Amino acid sequence: MTPNIPEPILNLLQEIGEVGGEETYLVGGFVRDLLLKRPSLDIDIVVEGEAIRVAEAMRNRWNGTVHVHPQFGTATVTPANQHLPKIDFVTARRETYESPGALPIVTYGTITDDLCRRDFSINALAMRLDTKAFGTIVDKTGGIKDLERGTIRVLHKRSFVDDPTRIFRACRYAGRYGFRIADSDSVLIQEALPVLVELSGERIRNEIDRVLLEENAPRIMGQLTEFGVYDSIFPGWQISPSFASDFQTAQNAIAWASEHLVDEKFQSEPVRWMSFFSTRTPIYQIEALSFRLVLTHQLRRLVSRAQASQHSVSLEKVTHAVFEKLGFPLSQNASIEHHNGKWCIVDADSPTGEGTTYVCGEGNLYRIETPLTAYRQLKQELTPLPEATKPSEIYRLLKPYPIAALVLTSVDRSIATWKREKIRDYLLVLRKVEPFITGEDLIQSGKKPSSEFETQLWELFAAQLDGKIRKKEEAYSRLRTFV
Ligand code: ATP
Ligand code: MG
Repeated sequence: MTPNIPEPILNLLQEIGEVGGEETYLVGGFVRDLLLKRPSLDIDIVVEGEAIRVAEAMRNRWNGTVHVHPQFGTATVTPANQHLPKIDFVTARRETYESPGALPIVTYGTITDDLCRRDFSINALAMRLDTKAFGTIVDKTGGIKDLERGTIRVLHKRSFVDDPTRIFRACRYAGRYGFRIADSDSVLIQEALPVLVELSGERIRNEIDRVLLEENAPRIMGQLTEFGVYDSIFPGWQISPSFASDFQTAQNAIAWASEHLVDEKFQSEPVRWMSFFSTRTPIYQIEALSFRLVLTHQLRRLVSRAQASQHSVSLEKVTHAVFEKLGFPLSQNASIEHHNGKWCIVDADSPTGEGTTYVCGEGNLYRIETPLTAYRQLKQELTPLPEATKPSEIYRLLKPYPIAALVLTSVDRSIATWKREKIRDYLLVLRKVEPFITGEDLIQSGKKPSSEFETQLWELFAAQLDGKIRKKEEAYSRLRTFV
């Protein structure tokens, strides 16, 4: 099996085995992908004993740097050679779950303990690194057989209840490798669905993020929907039937942007999330889900931070401050209640006129709502556009839109090709045109800013965009005709 490991990584692993001996194992995704003959990036080493000591020894050998987390018994080594990957060293551990959906209690243990705390048999494989038995697979849970059969299987009956993020993980691996979730596991997933409510918004968001990074995201989302996962996170929530094509549009937009907008701040994550919502999802649903996935978590964090700073700050005050900061101030009559670990904010006098306001925070979803709304509006604005539209009119139409919305529209096949070309032309050329004469120039020449002055500047710039003025001197002589 070791012939599948690229030579430079093979050398690193052998050196770890020479230093750490029988205490060191390669584990997790790397071993799984090795057996599947797929490339893998993360190198995770488990040490039965002191992981930090082994990591420091490797740092000395490779002249790299080491980042240590003493409280977790873990360390990351980055070799000096930039072509080599960073390597995580973790002390073998046992995990016990006190309450469903919460984080586990961790104590140190053996390699067997460490493998048995893992999610699925295919992820619970280890490879020995000691010189004597380098490359030998340790399989305590039938992982090799499951890999051969293409089966996702948990290691014990309570697994999904202990940690319902494993429901997302099961569908993610099934979708990625074209594997089947074992029938017994499908039953266990159904039984664990009610525990999804206990997961924090942040952990759910994290899992959705990871699904959206998969090429087969539509298949994975489909399976999660079949299990009823979204409905359990948020009653009534459904992934839109157009997800697959919206996701493809998002992927095309990201690919186009990474090729053509290299020096710009183009964030692909919100664009992927936009496909999660689809252009037809009502905004109130996005807001409601945002509240569940983002705001709940933020409020909890801010409140505990305020408490920690020893000032006795009232919940009301903190919540008002949070909303103020987010740009959605609550009215004085807003009532803020905390039931069973959940926040309910009822604002009868909210400016939107709705009885209840669910507002999202600064996290991912907040960044999505704006470009998503913009994308919808832009599609509408483009509908009546005549083909003879002048560049200056295109400029004026597209200027207010965020880049993400423009890029998405430019690859959206439901829009006429010539319209998409105009948008690309705007993105690549038009929006970067510098005006021959700026407001600054006019002020320098003694003019006072006025609305007339603005109209004139725009007229000059429009003529420039439409190719009617080709030189600075022409712009100045045209300006004189205005006076
Ligand atoms: P990927 O290719 O998606 O990164 P991976 O196997 O590397 O897959 P990670 O999420 O990076 O997955 O986690 C590394 C390993 O840690 C997994 O292989 C698994 O053994 C273990 N693990 C991760 N998350 C969980 C979990 N929620 N419950 C139990 N074990 C987990
Ligand atoms: Mg990984």
